[in-house]
Amino acid sequence: MRGLRASAVVLSLTITTFLAASPSAPAAAGAPPEPEVTSLVTISVPDTATLEKVVATGADLTERVRPQPDGSIQVDAVLSEGQLAALAPLGVEKAGAPAAQKTPKTPKAAAAADQIVIERAVWFRTRDGYFLSVEATSSAGPTATLSAAWRGRGGASGTVPMVPYTDAGAYLGHQLSTPAPVADRPSWVTVTSAGGGTAQARVKEWPDGERPDRTIPGYRKDFITQYMPPGQLNERVKALHRQFPQLTDVIALPYLTNGYRRHAQAQFGAVVVTSLAYGSEGGNDLAMELVDPGAQGRPLQVTVNGKLITVSLATDASGAITSTAAQVIAAVNAGAGSLVKATPYRTDNGQGVVAPAPLTQLSDFLKAPADVSREPARVLALRIGAHRDGSRTGVLAYAQEHAREWVTPLVTIETAERLLRNYARDPATRRLLQRTDIFIVPTVNPDGANYSFYDYNFQRKNMTNHCPAAQADPAARNSWGVDVNRNYAVGSLFDGYVGASANCLSGTYAGPGEHSEPESRNVIWLARTYRNIKFAMNVHSYGGYFMWPPGAYQAAGRVTLPRPTKAQEAYFLRSARTIEEAIAAERGTVTWPQQTGPVTDVLYSAAGNSADELWYDFGIFGWDFEVGNDIWNPATRTWEGVGFQPPFEEGHKEALEYASGLIAMIGLAADYRAP
Ligand SMILES: [Zn+2]
Repeated sequence: MRGLRASAVVLSLTITTFLAASPSAPAAAGAPPEPEVTSLVTISVPDTATLEKVVATGADLTERVRPQPDGSIQVDAVLSEGQLAALAPLGVEKAGAPAAQKTPKTPKAAAAADQIVIERAVWFRTRDGYFLSVEATSSAGPTATLSAAWRGRGGASGTVPMVPYTDAGAYLGHQLSTPAPVADRPSWVTVTSAGGGTAQARVKEWPDGERPDRTIPGYRKDFITQYMPPGQLNERVKALHRQFPQLTDVIALPYLTNGYRRHAQAQFGAVVVTSLAYGSEGGNDLAMELVDPGAQGRPLQVTVNGKLITVSLATDASGAITSTAAQVIAAVNAGAGSLVKATPYRTDNGQGVVAPAPLTQLSDFLKAPADVSREPARVLALRIGAHRDGSRTGVLAYAQEHAREWVTPLVTIETAERLLRNYARDPATRRLLQRTDIFIVPTVNPDGANYSFYDYNFQRKNMTNHCPAAQADPAARNSWGVDVNRNYAVGSLFDGYVGASANCLSGTYAGPGEHSEPESRNVIWLARTYRNIKFAMNVHSYGGYFMWPPGAYQAAGRVTLPRPTKAQEAYFLRSARTIEEAIAAERGTVTWPQQTGPVTDVLYSAAGNSADELWYDFGIFGWDFEVGNDIWNPATRTWEGVGFQPPFEEGHKEALEYASGLIAMIGLAADYRAP
């Protein structure tokens, strides 16, 4: 039971849509309704059962999930005020007062002395001091009241309450709700139960991995100066290749993305008009007006004059307009069907009479400057190594499957820069490039990344809209797209696994089928083409996790994908500790022990993710980083999440420390010998 689950989120397959509860179509014509404003908020959920329901709504939850001492759970989420209000009946609220101030539930004391087993007791040191993490089980189960008393090397001591964790009704044990700051380096801990049980253990160091190679004087690092949109990332890849042609290749991945582009739209009350051409290919030039003929007994008429569509509305004997939305839709599709398609707004029945509207330009609403290409995009991989012939152990590092995770490409670029610029001067780096064959993909999802940079910073998915017309009005545009990391073919939604959605508007939409998206096909193409790849790091943000397969379980019976063998699991854990040691060496950032482990144990089920496909179909050690560890706030004595796009000063540091982790993984690959 090493590694209690930090949370127990069951992602239900129930499909609900946020838009189903949307207000009816605006009566007045003019500019279409804007998407609801969303923000990154920490919500408080009463318990794990409720969290399952929250996930089932299709809510866009981040990976930062934090159990609280009172049994509630805090989770960061991207929500609008309306979405937050819709969750209120479930007992969800914005997290406010520190949870420590809430009144803990009082569990009943056990009748007889219970038996306590300490599963793990570790200390770690961050830039903020010493922290303690303890996990223990009581034979009395979750109702036991446990506390952990520690003794420090220097004689200090203290006592910390422990909280029970249950997952789908199963008791997993007690732990400190979050790692607790302590005044001294703990050496012994005694766990005591109100029911009489007690156990004692020596507190071990975490992560206590192999120390990273000492860097030589003059080792060069810190090559990141700002967040970079996809165009800049590609330029950097090409520039590195030009400068280091002997050590690199640029691989143009075969599957073009759909492109940073959309069809142009306008909305006239309950009538939504969408151009057949993309906005950048003529759709944005179209315009439409709804005209009151100003006379009695006129028929409904649609005329097209070049790019201008004029709808003359029907009137009755008194001159009042009689055309309904359904009639206008039919007339537009008949009269201007070579330019646009008209559809009803969401669930509108089309029976309302349409109001006149002035000439309205259709728009794709894309705000990136004109030099950001609207064409399908080529995804690039930078191959680095002294011997790029397939004879060396391959390492794949790929980032930004999720568009809004701006730090993640920086991790890969910083890594590439360090490897190439230290090759000539640093023997340790030279050894890595002699012994491994490295494939770096800074941005898997460039279309979504552009949308995140220029249009909607919380964009998680790619830009391809698979929604039917009823969910494709302009105000829904921030919710379209496929979650690239739910679009893979192992343990997928389509196989009955949990943690992806069939709802095209959900943050975890799996797409219309496995590998439907070019972004996921590109990643798998690398694994299939370069069979020497044995290690892979899927770089995400944020929350400070380090994870490996299995990453999903089935809805029926919560059966996970097969566990790695004991020996493989030990290798995953040992490697994790080495990599986490390297991350911590940079600025004292420690990845918590309870956030190190298989995805299904430490986070939640994520159906159809890439690391699972790499491991189960290709035998590649497939890891996931969630860069961006919580920051300890000594004033409030709480851990605080860093968000997807922290101020660059913080994002910069995250890139540097996780590049050190990535280089440590390349070191593991250099030492790897197949069993
Ligand atoms: Zn992610």
